[in-house]
Amino acid sequence: EPVIGVLALQGDVREHLTALAAAGAAAGPVRRPAELAEVDGLVIPGGESTTMSKLAHLFGMMEPLRERVAAGMPVYGSCAGLIMLADKILDPRSGQETVGGIDMIVRRNAFGRQNESFEAAVEVTGVEGGPVEGVFIRAPWVESTGAGVEILAEHGGHVVAVRQRNALATSFHPELTGDHRVHRLFTDMVRDAR
Ligand code: GLN
Repeated sequence: EPVIGVLALQGDVREHLTALAAAGAAAGPVRRPAELAEVDGLVIPGGESTTMSKLAHLFGMMEPLRERVAAGMPVYGSCAGLIMLADKILDPRSGQETVGGIDMIVRRNAFGRQNESFEAAVEVTGVEGGPVEGVFIRAPWVESTGAGVEILAEHGGHVVAVRQRNALATSFHPELTGDHRVHRLFTDMVRDAR
């Protein structure tokens, strides 16, 4: 079975570990470069992207993450994880950096105060069997994408799931539902890449 790490600096790590195990992966937390080197794929969880970015620097993880993503390691980011995978943030906090990997510009906290948290049915290309329950929590959306980026889902006219080569990202949190189809899709990406 594929070995998939969850970046465990900050965020909803445990929920992703549970979902990955249910999807048939051997899942474990990743905090250090040596742990990153051991995994076939990586999930960057939901949480707070500014804090995650700071901690990635502090733990010496930013460069190793960039190198492995650029080298083709499959990676999946949900919510704050999507922000971490963006080549560019529209409204970064000062000093906020990303791992990058997806040629897109994202807008943080994009759905606004009236819509801080909500759920919506979302059709995701590549996920069979009907829409997934999209849990959005102070979610970003994808403002624009480059030519190589495949748009997998939209909500309210905004892009909320994308893939480019080895990188998959969703604005919403499949790890907070009992539905593991997105984690299965990612586990399949990791299996195919091995
Ligand atoms: N708003 C958060 C950020 O900017 C993301 C929220 C989430 O991951 N649920 O990082």
